[in-house]
Amino acid sequence: MDLVRLGTTLRDRKEPAFRFGQAKKAFTVDLVDSWEGLTTWSKTLRADMAEEMSWDELTVLETLEGKAGDAVKFLFACEDGAKIETVVMRHEDDRNTVCVSSQVGCPMKCAFCATGAMGFTRNLTAEEIFDQVIHAARWLEKHGGKVTNVVYMGMGEPMHNYDEVMRSVRLLNDGEGFSLGARHISISTCGIVAGILKLAEEPEQVNLAVSLHSAVPATRTRIMPVNEVYPIDSLMKAVATYAEKTNRKVFFEYLLLDGINDTKKEAAALVKLMIKNKRLYHANVIKYHDTHVFTPTPRDRRLQFVTWLHEGGIPATARRSFGEDIHAACGQLATEKR
Ligand code: SF4
Repeated sequence: MDLVRLGTTLRDRKEPAFRFGQAKKAFTVDLVDSWEGLTTWSKTLRADMAEEMSWDELTVLETLEGKAGDAVKFLFACEDGAKIETVVMRHEDDRNTVCVSSQVGCPMKCAFCATGAMGFTRNLTAEEIFDQVIHAARWLEKHGGKVTNVVYMGMGEPMHNYDEVMRSVRLLNDGEGFSLGARHISISTCGIVAGILKLAEEPEQVNLAVSLHSAVPATRTRIMPVNEVYPIDSLMKAVATYAEKTNRKVFFEYLLLDGINDTKKEAAALVKLMIKNKRLYHANVIKYHDTHVFTPTPRDRRLQFVTWLHEGGIPATARRSFGEDIHAACGQLATEKR
């Protein structure tokens, strides 16, 4: 729902101010899914507003549940027909993380990523981002859960849609609305220096994740063209500034690609990059999911890579995967056929 437009429309109609609060609560707290469900309003007002604007920004086209029951993927259509995907990861400890998209497609062309192969269509609005979480929250409510975390790690580069992403963070964080604590929200970037420095100045205490995937310049440029614009040195300088200003942990995401970035030399380069700030840096080593370009590093060598990082004194975790069978895992989101 576009809450800004709702407020303006109600003011233009000279409705009492509390009507806005009733609708906002119904949408963001009670998770009501249509104008008809807004029973604190008269039938006439509901019908008039339904003519004026839609309740949801997104329509669910498909809901896919992973066999293991630990992941759900939604395919949404925006009002202009653009399609996006959102994933809910259901953790064993009852946490539910919603992975939202911030753009339709992505311009960054990371070689391992199905979204990157789609190209870029447009930025999402804050309302379209927020609605992904609202839909996930409705689904979770029906299945005995609630949203505990939101990560901006779906389709798109959030820092290239900075203002709308931050507006959506504020919608999520709003104490009179959805009320998700900023510390439960993470923004991931492929390494946009300007965005990292801007985020360091924000009052909201959101977490930062950096998709690094190699600490060796030539390897990183091969798999992430952004490295030519923002080389590792400038990226790490920005991350260090962020860590110093916020005193918050930074997570480095590292997908293991067989024979590309999983060697001992690559692990040593990563240790060298992170060691100076190991109190605040953490590496998440992730299984790659075959999108027909690279081959995943086998499990024993993934564990070996993590051991090399530990031996070098770096906090690192081999992260488990969610929803591989429904193409919901890292690097797999794409609304066009593969
Ligand atoms: S990994 Fe992220 S930044 Fe890179 S192409 Fe995919 S969606 Fe874009």
